[in-house]
Amino acid sequence: MSTLTRPATLTDELLDRITARVVSTGGGVWKLTEVYTGEVITTLPQSSPADIETAFERARAAQKDWSQWPVKKRLRVFKKFHQLLLEHNTTIVDLIQAESGKARRMAFDETCDPAMVTSHYLKRAAKLLKPVTRGGPVPVVSNSTEVRQPKGVVAIIAPWNFPFATGLSDAIPALMAGNGVVLKPDNKTALSPLYGISLLYEAGLPEGLFQVVCGEGPDVGPTLIDNANYVMFTGSTATGRFIGERAGQNLIGCCLELGGKNPMIVLPDANLDEVVTGALFGGFGNTGQICMHIERMYIHDSIYDDFKNRFVAATKALRLGASYDYEPEVGSLVSVDQKDRVASHVADAVEKGATVLVGGRERPDLGPAFYEPTILEGVTKDMLAGECETFGPVVALHRYSTIDEAVALANDTDYGLNASVWGGDLKKATDVARRIEAGNVNVNDILATAYAAKGSPSGGVKQSGVGARHGDQGLLKYTDGINLAVLKKQVLNAPADEPFEKHVDQTLKGLAMMRKLGIR
Ligand code: NAD
Repeated sequence: MSTLTRPATLTDELLDRITARVVSTGGGVWKLTEVYTGEVITTLPQSSPADIETAFERARAAQKDWSQWPVKKRLRVFKKFHQLLLEHNTTIVDLIQAESGKARRMAFDETCDPAMVTSHYLKRAAKLLKPVTRGGPVPVVSNSTEVRQPKGVVAIIAPWNFPFATGLSDAIPALMAGNGVVLKPDNKTALSPLYGISLLYEAGLPEGLFQVVCGEGPDVGPTLIDNANYVMFTGSTATGRFIGERAGQNLIGCCLELGGKNPMIVLPDANLDEVVTGALFGGFGNTGQICMHIERMYIHDSIYDDFKNRFVAATKALRLGASYDYEPEVGSLVSVDQKDRVASHVADAVEKGATVLVGGRERPDLGPAFYEPTILEGVTKDMLAGECETFGPVVALHRYSTIDEAVALANDTDYGLNASVWGGDLKKATDVARRIEAGNVNVNDILATAYAAKGSPSGGVKQSGVGARHGDQGLLKYTDGINLAVLKKQVLNAPADEPFEKHVDQTLKGLAMMRKLGIR
């Protein structure tokens, strides 16, 4: 038994109440553990294919009424939800930490995301969902109205690394747009999204609209996709490929937010104090389990040794620990399996000639899934850590001498999720940033500047994804644009009693006139 005291907020009453929301009739359960200790916190009901169908039926029944609510009335629920998110912050942070093992600082940051997304779309949703009427093909007598209709019921499949954010933030615009939602969180980390959903209901969401099903991905995935009108997926590229294929078979849309192997380029004139602070977060924030975190660092020759010495020293000084307070800077990996994966990438790199500058050790003294922040040198593309996403606290340092070389190295990957460019001359740094093949590129920051800019879309290119969250498309993707066209008087057809040539002549003149007047 561990001596770590579990937060008082995590009572049996709370855990029983939130897990009761999982649609499950078969009696199967998953033992959900506290990552720091490996002790079972609660048992999570598992959903069968029939349970998933029930979840969709319930969400669909509730959605019929919800979609008829005026947008303003729907948004009132989210105003209240935002307030509840802030009021219950401590419980949310406790749940995230217990199920994911991340440091409390990071768990707190994660709680801010749904609040920011809610706030953004509270401002934007009514405008985006308002019908827009435009002139039709013939001025005055015709018009066309773009009507935004909800897709129906959206399936959201979420990973374990930011369970609260990915479980809720993508659901918020879907619900605001008039959809129902069926969420499948990762079994390991279902508690914090379940709690967030209980807050949505407390805020006034109609009963049944937001359903939760739980199970291992391959067991529940096909039924989930086959019943959905749209799929929002966040997870690995391998799973994303399966989801995309199945959605394609069903002719439904999907948004795929996938993995990365994200580069950072440090230009010779960068402020090294800021770069080192950024690099610590880029490499080791969320114990390296951020899809947008940095695994490859390209440093100009002229500053390489200086940066390396400072970064290694700062990494050695990081405070690791299992604790429900804000003291540790780095927490645990999510599971022993994930720790083993990270350790295997480092072992493979060392075997093939890489050098460990700092870290490279498991820390069973701190908890079953702790691994030290690790900096490698001499990583090449034949190594797992050189080519594949490690998704742990491991970064590789590389030198470069010309900008072209740095850009080519940064782009030498199948992934394209995020990149970070550091430089004193903002224009030069931005010029370099524009040459990087990634859906998000941050100048003088790692990821937060792009990801927290909720007004702009954030997604991956290349093998890192299809579509985006945030921005207008982050809500509009959950709708169909219906073209409702009205012709007030029939003027489009050629009159039957006149030669067709006359119609051709009049139409050509009309097209020329409209072009001249800038109407069409
Ligand atoms: P994963 O693909 O194994 O699992 C993600 C989710 O999909 C889980 O809920 C899982 O149960 C489910 N799943 C697995 N197989 C499935 C199937 N056949 N059908 C339906 N669902 C299935 O990914 P993971 O290991 O949980 O998460 C880490 C990965 O997620 C990393 O690659 C990371 O980069 C990526 N990620 C991307 C973003 C982004 O926004 N681009 C954000 C967070 C994480």
